[in-house]
Amino acid sequence: MKYVDEYRDARLARGLVAELARKVTRPWVLMEICGGQTHTLMRYGIDELIPSQIELVHGPGCPVCVTPLEIIDKAIYLAEQPNVTLVSYGDMLRVPGSHTDLLHVKAGGGDVRVAYSPMEALKAARALPERQIVFLGIGFETTAPANATAVWQARRQGLKNFSMLVSHVLVPPAIRMLLSSGRNRVQGFIAPGHVCTVMGYREYESLSQHFRVPIVVGGFEPVDLLEAISMLVAQLEQGRAEVENQYTRSVTRGGNLPAQKLMEEVFEVCDRKWRGIGLIPQSGLRLRAEYAAYDAEKVFELQDTTVQEPPECISAQVLQGLKKPMECAAFGKACTPERPLGAPMVSAEGACAAYYRYRRHAGAGN
Ligand code: SF4
Repeated sequence: MKYVDEYRDARLARGLVAELARKVTRPWVLMEICGGQTHTLMRYGIDELIPSQIELVHGPGCPVCVTPLEIIDKAIYLAEQPNVTLVSYGDMLRVPGSHTDLLHVKAGGGDVRVAYSPMEALKAARALPERQIVFLGIGFETTAPANATAVWQARRQGLKNFSMLVSHVLVPPAIRMLLSSGRNRVQGFIAPGHVCTVMGYREYESLSQHFRVPIVVGGFEPVDLLEAISMLVAQLEQGRAEVENQYTRSVTRGGNLPAQKLMEEVFEVCDRKWRGIGLIPQSGLRLRAEYAAYDAEKVFELQDTTVQEPPECISAQVLQGLKKPMECAAFGKACTPERPLGAPMVSAEGACAAYYRYRRHAGAGN
């Protein structure tokens, strides 16, 4: 398949590993932001193939993992209301809230439906005018255009029974937070290709310049990631700190301008809490006041709450690249994909699930 097979070519991959071995002269710590990239690294054993001087740590780019516990609890509350149909991406159903999850609410009779797109929720709103349809709109810049389109269309169609519980997060403020932390070890970043397909990479240029850190926009196949690692190591070895684009088959510097325009029309930037990490200023999107009639927080007058994470879950450190999943005492014991304690073990993009699935721990996997 074009654009897939050549990026999974074992001969090309071996060549890139050999090139890396020639290039690297000292230890470097690199972070991939996106959970999809983490899974490719684990699945193909790239972290074990590359020279041992290069350490890969995993960033906070799993949307399910960083959705705040409070938003999960609000979704659960809504799903328990008799007149509400809650529509969500499938991964969200198993994410533990503070006392249960959406899957248990569904099993108990709650009307919780899985969708692949917010458009399915709009369709449900038209088909079920007697019910309130709420879409759980989470994710990074990647899913924001589709969610913005759904809200924009709901207003255009005059729907009175559709709303969205929004918890969007943005990648550049998270990178800024990581680089500003006194505990930061990361010396180069692989920026998420799908986010940059929408947003371009202009925003990353000021980060790279300000923090003197190389950033390479990377794709999701093994050859993409090996190329991105090689480009980062080349910059670091040469003392350069620039933004480079490995994922040229999808990403341009300016990104998808019509998608950005629609996001700008429907959403505005706000402070946002990230699960496990805490509040990151100006790191989220919320619906603009003009769209308040479609904001589930306002429609249902949801109250802000603060909920404690399970104390044994160290996802905050995992999501900031400070610890690896197997350094968590609960990993593979009290916390497994069947009985997850924290979101990184639930999500298809979570780092803990990736380590478990690809057997990076004795006794893990199946
Ligand atoms: S293994 Fe489970 S408990 Fe430990 S950090 Fe990951 S999600 Fe949290």
